[in-house]
Amino acid sequence: MTAVRLVILGRQGSGKGTQASRLVVAYDTVHISTGDMLRAAVGAETELGLQARAVMDAGELVGDDLINGIVAERLAQDDVAEHGFLLDGYPRTPDQASALEGFLAEAGTPMDAAVNLDVPVDEVTARMVARGRADDTAEAIRRRLDLYESETAPLLAWFAERGLLEVVDGLGAEDDVFTRLTTAIDRRLSVGDAS
Ligand code: AMP
Repeated sequence: MTAVRLVILGRQGSGKGTQASRLVVAYDTVHISTGDMLRAAVGAETELGLQARAVMDAGELVGDDLINGIVAERLAQDDVAEHGFLLDGYPRTPDQASALEGFLAEAGTPMDAAVNLDVPVDEVTARMVARGRADDTAEAIRRRLDLYESETAPLLAWFAERGLLEVVDGLGAEDDVFTRLTTAIDRRLSVGDAS
């Protein structure tokens, strides 16, 4: 199988992380979760972690330059060249989307698809309150969802303009959602093969 290059989008609490973990196994690719990378840095108390912690706890976004640098470094690794990637939690702003476009153009490796895992705001709010993670205060949840609408939702149009967007219904049983995702991705990959 050739390397796949995918982005998964979705509100916090959409089940994106769980589905991403299954997709990377199914497509034998590299899971690049900027949230996981940042949480690891916070846990290890690296300089990056110390910088990111307060921003994350408040539900704000880490600066574009910082996160673009982290992603550029990760994309340059050998495992990504061999197996491709599934980006999860990135890009989140128009500036990050442009940066990603630049990285991929430079490497000569176009993306296959951006999949939006669509779950309504009311449902993700209920799920996030229920999971009770340390950075999931009511205020931080609200702030993250606001930022998603203002910063990240416009990226759906950005990907659609480039012919890359697939929208998948994220409601229902985990297995059913996973099947919908692989169906949408497989369709994209077969279109790519035919051209
Ligand atoms: P996540 O697990 O993707 O929800 O990320 C957790 C937190 O990490 C976010 O609320 C942000 O503070 C930060 N973060 C993760 N990815 C990004 C990104 N692409 N740009 C800016 N901040 C990010």
